[in-house]
Amino acid sequence: MIVRVHDLYFGIDELILSLADAVKLKMFGKVYVFHAKKEGGNIKLPFYIVKCRKCDAYFLDHPHEPDGYFLCPLCERKGDLSIEKEA
Ligand SMILES: [Zn+2]
Repeated sequence: MIVRVHDLYFGIDELILSLADAVKLKMFGKVYVFHAKKEGGNIKLPFYIVKCRKCDAYFLDHPHEPDGYFLCPLCERKGDLSIEKEA
């Protein structure tokens, strides 16, 4: 399955997912894809494809501190379970 993603880090337009990963993405709204260093960074971070609950777009991001949230580059909405708790 080819997923079109929005990616601010590497300029990736689309990623190819295995069927298992595509199912995980559907079920959990995110799936781990790879570890990579950000530009200028020296630690490898885990990157995920995340589906934004607001604009339905897929984007590539790593968990942000302090609580591991993801940030949609299109609407800048935090996509994370902790946000759901607050709502
Ligand atoms: Zn969004």
